[in-house]
Amino acid sequence: MKPRTEYQKRVVAVNGSLRNLANKHFVEVYNRACTHIAFQNKGNTLICGDCGEVIEQPKISIAGLVRCPHCSKKLKPLDSKKWSTREVYYIMAIDQSKGLQILRYYLLYTYFRKHQPVRLLPLEIFRVYINECGQRAVCSKLRTMFSAYRDQWNMNSDIELRQPNMAWRYTPYDVRAWAHIRTRKFTKECKRAGLDVNDTLFPDAETICKILQDNRYETIWKAGMHEMAFRLEPKEMTALWPALKICMRNGYNPNNVKDYIDYVKQLIQLEKDIHNAHYVCPADLDAEHRRTNASVQKILDRKRFLEEQKRMKEAESAYAKRILPFLNFYMKNKNFHISVLPTVKAFYEEGQAMHHCVYSNRYYERKDTLVLSCRDNDDKRVATIELGLPKCDIRQVRAACNKIPEQYDSIVRLITRQKKELRKLSAAMV
Ligand SMILES: [Zn+2]
Repeated sequence: MKPRTEYQKRVVAVNGSLRNLANKHFVEVYNRACTHIAFQNKGNTLICGDCGEVIEQPKISIAGLVRCPHCSKKLKPLDSKKWSTREVYYIMAIDQSKGLQILRYYLLYTYFRKHQPVRLLPLEIFRVYINECGQRAVCSKLRTMFSAYRDQWNMNSDIELRQPNMAWRYTPYDVRAWAHIRTRKFTKECKRAGLDVNDTLFPDAETICKILQDNRYETIWKAGMHEMAFRLEPKEMTALWPALKICMRNGYNPNNVKDYIDYVKQLIQLEKDIHNAHYVCPADLDAEHRRTNASVQKILDRKRFLEEQKRMKEAESAYAKRILPFLNFYMKNKNFHISVLPTVKAFYEEGQAMHHCVYSNRYYERKDTLVLSCRDNDDKRVATIELGLPKCDIRQVRAACNKIPEQYDSIVRLITRQKKELRKLSAAMV
């Protein structure tokens, strides 16, 4: 992609001038953070994957590791009798050049082969550039065709400026590195924003941008709310900011941040005062969250109930008009009788009593359907019947919980006997 804006031109200039990292950095990362393995060997011996020497009479620790007497690495013995194996890690180097903060991502391949020392192959695949204002640009290798996984890169391509055309978290660049290179260089803006933290706390590219763009993020980051800075979306920040200020004043740092954001949003929905520490710094977040959840649910249920009633009212008149010819129609034998469901409310009652979807799937709105209810002599519901119009063929006969009723055959017989009458009535429908 050709650089168009000033910023892109600046990024491309820096991209061309970056130097490769020395191999010693990757050796250090490998020794510190990657898995070291041992091959199974004949007899009671292992072979060190790191230096390739044979380990006689290995002592396995409680953690399942073995110390190599030759290179003194802690090794994990393989389960299988493989001769070679390979691991891949995303490694990040934090670099800076000409005022741009750069996150350089490498794929570190570690190749093990019996009786041979380990071989490391680091390949740089992309760089994320962030300027003073938190603006982001990416230079990367190409993706392979039809890449289904994040780490499918075309290794022969160059690291060039690319334009990610989707939300950051869906791009292949939103990667959490397995480990960081020890030597880290920060721009003065990043240092001032407090980004110079240890590996486990180091923010991802998205969070760094948020911190540099919005000083409220910088404030919560410096107050130690790292997880909050990571989770909180910029559009949620404005709503939650008063609550966060109270949290910082009271030294309150919720451990379940996702729940906490939900909780404060619900407080806002319930029109509670989020400037009040009583609400925003609960001692038992779980219990309070459950309580607000119940209140919000109540409001939603009420809203849904009113909507449902409105819909029922609207549907009622249309349905009454449609089934007018059937209203007085009635079939019976000595055990039960069948009649049309007369109102939409009757659909609701039928659905509730029989635990099926005759109401929820809005059968009363279907023009090609006639729904009847079969009841015994005590007026207890036996089955719900769906007929197809205009032929009046039987589509479904269902007892409670969508089961097949015991009286299935006699119901079918009764309806078949009355089919002529049914057809005549259905012809009169509008
Ligand atoms: Zn060794």
